[in-house]
Amino acid sequence: MIKSIDSQQVESLTYDIDVATQLVQGVDLWINTPRRPWEASGTSGMKVLVNGGLNLSELDGWWAEAFQPEVGCALGDGAEHGEDPAWDRSEAEALYALLEQDVVTAFYERDAQGLPQAWLARMRESMARLTGLFSTNRMVREYTETYYLSAAAAYRARGGADFSQVREIERWLALTRRHWSGVRIAVVSREHDGERLRVDAHVYSDELPPDSVRVELYSDAEAADAAPERIALQRGEPLAGSSGGYRYHIEITTRRPAEHYSVRVVSAHPQVRWPLETGLVCWER
Ligand SMILES: *Cc1c(COP(=O)(O)O)cnc(C)c1O
Repeated sequence: MIKSIDSQQVESLTYDIDVATQLVQGVDLWINTPRRPWEASGTSGMKVLVNGGLNLSELDGWWAEAFQPEVGCALGDGAEHGEDPAWDRSEAEALYALLEQDVVTAFYERDAQGLPQAWLARMRESMARLTGLFSTNRMVREYTETYYLSAAAAYRARGGADFSQVREIERWLALTRRHWSGVRIAVVSREHDGERLRVDAHVYSDELPPDSVRVELYSDAEAADAAPERIALQRGEPLAGSSGGYRYHIEITTRRPAEHYSVRVVSAHPQVRWPLETGLVCWER
C-alpha cells in the first residue's frame, strides 16, 4: 500500500515528473506532512484524486479547503505552530494514530467478496466531490471566464479598429497631467441632520473639461474587511465669473460622523483606469 522511492532514483530535489506519474497512479494513500504554512498548494494530492487514491494531509494548502471527513484524513488543527518540537511530536503521534486506527482498519476490513467497503465509500466521495473542483479544467475555465476574456475585451475596446482611440487616450493623458496642478477644491460645506449628510463643494478644474474629473466623497473603510466608501458628487451650475468652476453636491444617509468624509477630485476617463494609470488626486484641505 505505501510505496517508497529508492534514494538513488531521486536524482535531485526538483519535481521529477516520471516518479510523480508512477506515484500518483500507484498509491492508495497520499501522505503529505508539511509544517503549516509551507504547503504552497499540494497539487500532487489533487493528481491522486482522479486515480482513486485518498489523501491524508496536513490542513494546509488545498487540503485546508478540500478536506471533509467523508473524503480522506486530516492532520493538525489548521493553525500555525512554527517549529515547536512539542507540536511536531504531537502531530507525529496523531499521524500514527490515524494510520493504525483509521487507515489500516478501513483498508484491510474486507467483506465476503474481499472488498474494503469503508475505503471504497471514501474513494467514491473523494472522486465525486473533489475531482471536478480541483482540476485543471476548472482552473483554466475560471481563469478564462474571470480574467482572460475580460482582458481580451478590454484590449479590443481600447485599441479600436485603427488604434485611434489609443491616440485619443494619449492626448487626454498629456492634457490632464499638464493641467492637474490647477485643479482645486475651494469651498466645502457639510450639513448633518440625523443620519442625513449633505455636502456642497466648489471645484475648479482649470483648463480641463469637467468630464475629465470625478468629484467624490471618500471615507476610509469602517471595518477591516470592507471597502472604502466612494460616492460621486453631482455636478450643478457653473460658478459665475470663474473659468472651469462648478458647484457639486451630494446627499447621503449615514450613521458615521461628517468628519469621516472628505471631498476629493480624481481624474476620470471611461477607458483609463484610476489609480493604475494616472493616480491623479486632489484632496480638500
Ligand atoms: C504536480 C507538479 C508539481 C506540484 O507539486 P506539489 O509540491 O505536490 O504541489 C510541481 N511540478 C510538476 C512538474 C508537477 O507536475
